[in-house]
Amino acid sequence: MGYIELNVLNNETSPQAMGIDLGTTNSLAATWKDGRPVVIKPEQAGNGSIPSVIHVAEDGTVLVGRQARDKAMVDPRHTIFSIKRFMGRGIADVQEELKSFPFPVTEDENGVIQVQAHGKAYTPQELSSLILMRVHDLACRSMGGAEIQRAVITVPAYFDDTQRQATRDAARLAGIDVLRIINEPTAASLAYGLDQSAAGTIAVYDLGGGTFDISLLSIEEGVFSVLSTNGDTHLGGDDFDRALAGLAMEGLAEQLSPEELNDPGLHQAARLAGEKCKMELSTRPEADLHVVLPESGVHFRRRVTIEEFDELVAPLVERTLDSCRQALADAELEPSDISEVVMVGGSTRMPCVQAAVENFFGRLPHTELNPDEVVALGAAIQAHILIGGSRDLLLMDVTPLSLGLETVGGAVSKIIARNSTIPCSATEGFTTYADNQTGIEFNILQGERELAKDCRSLGQFKLTGIPPMPAGLARVAVRFHVDADGILTVSSREESTGAKASISITPKNGLTDEAVEKMLADSLTNAREDFEAGRNVGLVAELGTMIRATNKSLPDVEEHLDLETLADIREAIEASQAASAAKVLDGKELQRVRDLLERATMPLAAVLMDGVAKKALAGKSLRDV
Ligand code: AMP
Repeated sequence: MGYIELNVLNNETSPQAMGIDLGTTNSLAATWKDGRPVVIKPEQAGNGSIPSVIHVAEDGTVLVGRQARDKAMVDPRHTIFSIKRFMGRGIADVQEELKSFPFPVTEDENGVIQVQAHGKAYTPQELSSLILMRVHDLACRSMGGAEIQRAVITVPAYFDDTQRQATRDAARLAGIDVLRIINEPTAASLAYGLDQSAAGTIAVYDLGGGTFDISLLSIEEGVFSVLSTNGDTHLGGDDFDRALAGLAMEGLAEQLSPEELNDPGLHQAARLAGEKCKMELSTRPEADLHVVLPESGVHFRRRVTIEEFDELVAPLVERTLDSCRQALADAELEPSDISEVVMVGGSTRMPCVQAAVENFFGRLPHTELNPDEVVALGAAIQAHILIGGSRDLLLMDVTPLSLGLETVGGAVSKIIARNSTIPCSATEGFTTYADNQTGIEFNILQGERELAKDCRSLGQFKLTGIPPMPAGLARVAVRFHVDADGILTVSSREESTGAKASISITPKNGLTDEAVEKMLADSLTNAREDFEAGRNVGLVAELGTMIRATNKSLPDVEEHLDLETLADIREAIEASQAASAAKVLDGKELQRVRDLLERATMPLAAVLMDGVAKKALAGKSLRDV
């Protein structure tokens, strides 16, 4: 459930921050806009994703993103990709990786990896900073030149301190003020609002283009902890493409010579055809695997059914499940212990992957959000929260605690009950407590307890301009309205004069779910005590009014009352004053003296009524009545 802490509305425009998913293949930025996280989609980057690729030209000119990726075929030695695999690592850690990189990688005397390009050495931090700079710059430009310096950056859950520090350094080099480095699976869980659940164990299954990660997280009172991680840094969508490319190459082997089959251009074309076919099979039962190389006269077409594809890639899917088994074993958990499964990465769009994951964990995985965007969206939520925003506007659809007003003697009059669906409104009538009272001070309260001191005060405001009149005659209507955004407006109006006053209060961060739960638990534990305390406060207020009214009218009618009645009244007043002033209010005693005072003042009331009737009837015959 959401929470609200209400603070007096002000007109400050909210400061901004962004979330950046710094990926191995692509990077993406998101920010908070109109109450929700949104991916920033610069014109130059279509769907918002910017290839994490850098090209260094001979003259030292650096290109980043799409233009750099376009150079991969023509200038592979100076087109640097997958730099994330080098972050915070020594050359010994990446020996295996090096074989697949066409650009030269060395190590300096301090063991820091360097990528060589045209006689200049670049550290992974510098290269990552170039990517971050590009993502950040395009994001700011696409937001009308906004200067958003602060950002949350995501890293894989298995990143160690050195790798995280390297990421932080890269951001610093890019001139970004890092609010926090958070884990990618945590960000994905945030995007799905899983931090709002009281407790549970989450499995985040992340299958991208070239890597697979499974992370098991526990969530308790909004705090995520990593229980275990596993995966394969060389398993991803590319392998699925290669499986289909293999099918095409088998078919082509019948048409082409062994030399022709060795052409790197043909392999590249077959892989691209494989990826296209794979993507189509995510939404269709059949697709064409179509390889054309006009200059070599190659033309190959083959229909692939979804059943055929599923069978072909089953070993790849099974490898991801092996990692899931290992992660569960490390955390000493069973699949049935997992309460939520989150899907991340473009490859989780494949129906066979979704079905295998659902079957493995025995529950439907979350696939509602774009799996390429979910990490950046979560990072944007975290950034928004860290700069003091709240996302309750988005999530709050009921009032989590009752809303009301403080009444005489510190009691609470609840006006909107907890769990009311918003938008909602309610009106309650109030009156003045003292004669000639020209203003009423309202204290707006949130909570389940019966006494104002035990609830949370959200704000105060004053209604003035009430004409002087006896206590209890003014009629003041107070309206509480909570709009769809969770903004509470309290307005009051005095009926006879039309005097008005109001206050708007807007939800802000502050009360955690934990605090809300505590307030609710307190109210249940104290329900009986509270009920009595509230009733006692009400009785004291009532006695006060009765005593004042009696003292006020007594001098006028004293002569018409016998001595015994007068003594009874005085005795009842004294007993009432004593009971009201007691350090610890005694409910039974208060009730007793209230009844005593009521009985004692009955003759007085009769004389008063008689006087009023006589006055009203003066000069009238019985027939006029
Ligand atoms: P990511 O690294 O998360 O951007 O994922 C990229 C991978 O997702 C690539 O291997 C893509 O081929 C794959 N992918 C993207 N869209 C789809 C789709 N509709 N069906 C299957 N795979 C996809």
